[in-house]
Amino acid sequence: MPKKNFLWVREDFRMEDNLALHSISSLEQKIYAFFIYDEKKFKNRSAQQWWLYKTLVNFQNKLNNVGISFKIYADNEVQCIKKLIKSENIDKFYYNTIARPDELLIESEIEKNLTSHDINWKKFESNLLQDPFSVRKKDNTPFQVFTPYWRNAEEQYLKNKNFINKKIIYKKSVIKEDNNAVLNLILPKKKWFEKFEKFWTPGEDMAKTLLKSFIKKKIVDYSTNRDIPSVEGTSKLSPYLAFGEISSQTIFEECYKISQKKIGFRKYINEIGWREFAHHLINFFPQMQTGNLRRQFDKFNWVKDDAKLKKWKQGKTGYPIVDAGMRELHETGWMHNRVRMITASFLVKHLRINWKEGEKHFRDCLLDFNAPNNIAGWQWVAGCGADAAPYFRIFNPILQGEKFDSEGMYVKKWVKELNLIPKKYIHKPWEMPEDEQSLINFNLKKNYYAPIVNHAEARNSALEAFKNLKN
Ligand SMILES: Cc1cc2nc3c(=O)[nH]c(=O)nc-3n(C[C@H](O)[C@H](O)[C@H](O)COP(=O)(O)OP(=O)(O)OC[C@H]3O[C@@H](n4cnc5c(N)ncnc54)[C@H](O)[C@@H]3O)c2cc1C
Repeated sequence: MPKKNFLWVREDFRMEDNLALHSISSLEQKIYAFFIYDEKKFKNRSAQQWWLYKTLVNFQNKLNNVGISFKIYADNEVQCIKKLIKSENIDKFYYNTIARPDELLIESEIEKNLTSHDINWKKFESNLLQDPFSVRKKDNTPFQVFTPYWRNAEEQYLKNKNFINKKIIYKKSVIKEDNNAVLNLILPKKKWFEKFEKFWTPGEDMAKTLLKSFIKKKIVDYSTNRDIPSVEGTSKLSPYLAFGEISSQTIFEECYKISQKKIGFRKYINEIGWREFAHHLINFFPQMQTGNLRRQFDKFNWVKDDAKLKKWKQGKTGYPIVDAGMRELHETGWMHNRVRMITASFLVKHLRINWKEGEKHFRDCLLDFNAPNNIAGWQWVAGCGADAAPYFRIFNPILQGEKFDSEGMYVKKWVKELNLIPKKYIHKPWEMPEDEQSLINFNLKKNYYAPIVNHAEARNSALEAFKNLKN
C-alpha cells in the first residue's frame, strides 16, 4: 500500500495563515485532507450547523482547486482516526491544535494512538495569537484580571511573533470525494437557517473582505460606534473566527500594519485580547466549562422558571431592548455585544435564572458560538467569573436602552410592533398613557407585552439573594 500524508482539518477552514496546511503542502507526497463531523459536538449548536455546512462546501472547493482531496466522515473523532490508522498506510499526520481543554483531551488520545503506530505526526498552533498556557504572572500563576493579562500577553506576542502569511503553491491532480451524504446529515432539519442566508456569506474570502472594509471604514469610529447597536460599527468577524476562516494573527497584523495610529485601533485590538483572555481562563480553569469560576456561586439561589425563560428566549419580556436583542439573535444568528450584556444580565439578575440556561441558548443560536468566549461572557455578566461585573451592579434595561439606543432605532428594527411608539416611551412603553396609546392604535397588552417583572422589585430581590450568598 502506498504511503500517504494526512491533514486533519478541524476549526481552521482557511488557505492563508494555516500552519498545518502550509507545512504539509511543502512535502512531496499527495495530501489527503479530511474533516470528521461528530454529531454529538454539534447537537446543541443548530445555527452553527448551517455555517459548518456552507464552510465545508466552500473549503472542499478551495482545497480541490489546489489539488488536495478532501473527505468528510461522520464519526467520533478518536474512533475515526483509529480506523484510518488501521486501513491506511499513513506516513505523516498533521493538524492544528484547538486550545480548549475538551479538544486537548481528544488530541492527546489521538497522539497516543499515532505514536504507538510509529506515525510521524505534528501539531501546530492555530486559533490564537499564542499558546494560552505560555502567558503567566511572575509567580508562574495564571492571570485573572484582564488589563495586566493583556499587557503581558500582547508584549509577549509582539516579542516572539513570527508571522509569515504564506500562500499555498501546492498543485497536484486531485481525487474529488463525494461528500454529499455526510453534508446532508449536517444541514439542520428545521429550516430556521434559511433566514441567515440574507445576512451572512460564510467563507474565507468574505472574512478577508470584511476585515479590509472594517479597517478602511470603521475602525476609526470603533471606540464609540461599537456600543451603539443600531450602527454596524463592529467587524462582525466573530463567526469567521469561530470557524477559523480568518486567523487572529491575520486580524492583528492587518490592523497593526494599517491602522496602528488610528483611533479605535487600540480598542479593537483589546477585544481580540478578550478572546485570548477567555481561552487563557478556560485552559487554566477547565472547571469553568461546567461550573462557576468563583465557587461561592455554587450556593447561589437561582430561580427555576421555565415560563419566564421561554419568554426571554422568544423576546417577549416586555422590555424592548431585551426583546430586540433576543429577536436579532433568532433572525440573524448574531447579537450585538452591548445587547448580549443587557439580555444576559436580564436573565441572571432580573429573572435570577442560572447563567447556564442562557449559555445553552446562546450556544444553540449563535453563529459565532465559541465555548471560551460564551462561558467567559456569561460568567462575566453573572459576576461568578474572572474580572467580572460584580453581581450587585445590575444593568437597568431602561437606562441602557436610553443611553445606547436613544432614538429607539434598534428596538424598532427588531420589535416591529413598537414602530409607532414615541421616543419618550420606546424603552418603557408601559408608561405611555392609555389615551396616547389609543391615538396610535396601540394597546400594550394586546399589541406587545407587559413587563414580566418589575425592574425595581427584581433588582431588590437580586440584591437580597446576593447578600445571602455573602453571609
Ligand atoms: C453573554 C455573552 C456571550 C458571548 N458569547 C460569545 C460567543 O459565543 N462567541 C464569541 O465570539 N463572542 C461571544 N461574546 C463576545 C462578543 O459579544 C462577540 O465576540 C462580539 O459581539 C462579536 O461581534 P464582532 O465580531 O462584530 O465583534 P468586534 O467588536 O468586531 O470584535 C472583534 C473580535 O474580538 C473578539 N471579541 C469581541 N468582544 C469580545 C468579548 N467580550 N469577549 C471575547 N472576545 C471578544 C471576537 O472574536 C470578535 O469577533 C459574548 C459576550 C457576552 C456578553
